[in-house]
Amino acid sequence: MSINCQREFELLKKIGFVRTSGSEEELKAANILLEEISSIGCEGHLEAFNAPTSRITKATLKVVEPYEKEYEIAPYNCAIGTPEGGITTDFIYIEDGLDVNLVDLKGKFVLMNTRPNPKLYKKLIDAGIAGYITMSGTAMDEEDKTDISIARIREKNTKHGKIPAVNMRTKDCFQMVRDNASKVHVEIIMEDVELPSHNVVVTLEGTKYPEEIISFGAHYDSVPYSTGVYDNGAGSVIIMELLRHFKENPPMRTVKFVWYGSEEVGLLGSKAYLKDHEEELKKHLLMINVDVAGSILGKEMALVTAEQSLVDYIDHTAKIKGFPLKVEQDIYSSDSTAFADAGIPSVTFCRFAPHGGAFIHTRNDVMDYLSAEALEKTTIITKEFSESIINSVVFPVERKIPDKMRKELDKYFDKEPKKEESSDSKK
Ligand SMILES: [Zn+2]
Repeated sequence: MSINCQREFELLKKIGFVRTSGSEEELKAANILLEEISSIGCEGHLEAFNAPTSRITKATLKVVEPYEKEYEIAPYNCAIGTPEGGITTDFIYIEDGLDVNLVDLKGKFVLMNTRPNPKLYKKLIDAGIAGYITMSGTAMDEEDKTDISIARIREKNTKHGKIPAVNMRTKDCFQMVRDNASKVHVEIIMEDVELPSHNVVVTLEGTKYPEEIISFGAHYDSVPYSTGVYDNGAGSVIIMELLRHFKENPPMRTVKFVWYGSEEVGLLGSKAYLKDHEEELKKHLLMINVDVAGSILGKEMALVTAEQSLVDYIDHTAKIKGFPLKVEQDIYSSDSTAFADAGIPSVTFCRFAPHGGAFIHTRNDVMDYLSAEALEKTTIITKEFSESIINSVVFPVERKIPDKMRKELDKYFDKEPKKEESSDSKK
């Protein structure tokens, strides 16, 4: 049986609604995937885990000097709020937060150009700031056409302490700096909550080497405001099509298919899976992830977090079969990275749109920029590679992560704080 990209596209439309971490809609999407799985004749199940977030009941920021104006804000989930009634503090723009920018910040609300990495975050905490603002969007955004991105503050930051943190429109921040805003009143009332999120799991037992496991992964959650069809409804329907293929063509090795929840808030689904399946992981030989695909404009890529020989193998396969595929040894910010961090070789297949060709993490991630034909490209490439490796006589990939990739992973997950001083050159 051949790949049917129209069928994939139809399923993509079905799950093409906003489905954020821990929401009812995320669960609804999980159930649609389960239905599709049973229509293929397979048995799937949900694996629940808790996704920490915040319940925000009030969030206001008002410039009070030298002019008065209230701006829209999006507090970071898992940060903290202000006391009831809010706080009135000095406001200061600290650009990139260089040491020179960090003098006399005690009790002030600061605006900066980028989200702070843990090192800067700690410096801000040590400087005694009242809270901070990051920017989202561009200076020319139109309010009714864009959204302020909502994010969750990560543990690697909050382990240094919690303070109020908000995202604002770049356009508004531009105005505040231009008009010399000097004092703000901020009130944020929020509490920590945990919402149930789910991974969807199917296993096809291997016919010859059932003890050896290869797993497919794709996250099916979206960010707020986004129907997340490019990122990553597309990957979700691609691995569904591969499940269909392997159901009809039983694999020699055991193949697991996992649709991960809550990837967008810090790879929570894959991290939960890794934690809950410690014993099984010893048998995992490779994780094959698909994240972003289907864009009409784009290029096929494979990012390999494994030994160089796998990079070469995929590259050669693409050349022999005539697929335009760029293959690189690298990490990719998705669930594959959590697996690689656990010592399991991983690869992500994706179709990257050129700038402006498709849109992740915004309300513009919609079906208009995608096509069934484009979806088929990534599906075929992923199928050709995975089928050959899943049915190999001897599994050719060593189960180890090369030092070079280990370093990248440690940097990504912010381990090795000692080395940070010297390896900062890329930032
Ligand atoms: Zn994604």
